[in-house]
Amino acid sequence: MLSSHAGRRRMDNIGFFFLNTFLFCTCLASPPNFVLLFADDLGFGDLGCYGHPSSLTPNLDRLAAGGLRFTDFYCTSPVCSPSRASLLTGRYQTRSGIYPGVLYPGSRGGLPLNETTIAEVLKPMGYATAAIGKWHLGVGANGMFLPTRQGFDQYLGIPYSHDMHTHYPQYAGQGAAGRTLRGPFGDALFEFDNTIGNLLTTLEKTGVTNNTLVFFTSDNGPELMRLSRGGNAGPLKCGKGTTYEGGMREPAIAFWPGTIRPGVTHEMASTLDILPTIASLAGAKLPQVMLDGVDMTEILVNQGKSKRETMVFYPTDPDEKYGLFALRLGKYKAHFYTRGATHSGTTPDQDCPVFAVLKAHDPPLIFDLEADPSEHYPLPLTGKPDLQALLERIKKAKEQFEASMVFGESQISKGTDPDLEPCCNPQCIPKPSCCKC
Ligand code: MG
Repeated sequence: MLSSHAGRRRMDNIGFFFLNTFLFCTCLASPPNFVLLFADDLGFGDLGCYGHPSSLTPNLDRLAAGGLRFTDFYCTSPVCSPSRASLLTGRYQTRSGIYPGVLYPGSRGGLPLNETTIAEVLKPMGYATAAIGKWHLGVGANGMFLPTRQGFDQYLGIPYSHDMHTHYPQYAGQGAAGRTLRGPFGDALFEFDNTIGNLLTTLEKTGVTNNTLVFFTSDNGPELMRLSRGGNAGPLKCGKGTTYEGGMREPAIAFWPGTIRPGVTHEMASTLDILPTIASLAGAKLPQVMLDGVDMTEILVNQGKSKRETMVFYPTDPDEKYGLFALRLGKYKAHFYTRGATHSGTTPDQDCPVFAVLKAHDPPLIFDLEADPSEHYPLPLTGKPDLQALLERIKKAKEQFEASMVFGESQISKGTDPDLEPCCNPQCIPKPSCCKC
């Protein structure tokens, strides 16, 4: 799937395709194909099937109507690179070293080659693998961090966000420009949705729909600083760059006719869980490393219970000094630190912009996300023995998790080298300004 740049900077998307060797066999006994669709900066409230009143997303709505729609699905970081690292490895970005912030075109680091990606999990099973669209997990010397060095047979796309090129592509295809009620953002989203429609049509034409798991989600919350062109978090608080729900909770849909019954699940799940789930469905071995993901097959095929009891939330710049910023245990979320972000500027909520500086909370702010998904009303802890017991459980879960966390060497702190940046005129100087072709 190619990037779709219409009307905003970051509506590009990435698709990961994992095809088994029995591509044209629709027999369910054979290992399934997997198609992961990963939108960029798409908010919880952006799709028609998640309640947006003027978005035009007929194909994603079709996936949701015929598949399983998640209400409590999380990414692991409110910015791109670390979130993508966790999707592909089933591990928090702090373990793989994809922090702080994001990788740049000339970054010396990238997703370490000794990390095991979903593609590498599937290769021993005979799968053909491809990554298409935005990568954003490093380029490095001689392209050493590109997808073809991380288990993918093929790669077609841009290696980082397209607003790191020398200009901002603002493009709307003829089939999408001016076609929606929502303006440029809506047009870009409609084009994105059209691309997904083309993909579904291809699956149908090749007769593999009933043997293919299509999973759709997004890498982080909406970039609210772009005003109406920045996406929408729906009822959730703040957006990109923050550890509030708007930055971390994502739309997610699993589609597999004949295996996944249509419905809605409120079970807690994460991009971390995709690797173990795919491994389970393919009969592949899990990597022998500390995984943070759990198998969610039971949620998918039986609409059953999640094995996930907690979800932890790191800021864009994780630091062992502070540890995690927030933790969700069951329906409760505790904020130990809160902070606004540039990416979430412009909202009326004064907790979201960058001038909402780092604030420690002891005891933590605790919200009941079922009663209050907008994180408006922290629970009063004083004089509430049951909530004091909850607080102790939360603290214990935090201690246990942090005891398991070994921060990997930061790949992003290795800095940048202009000579590493892909350039259409490799011998020119000075870079990167001379790379305008
Ligand atoms: Mg993103």
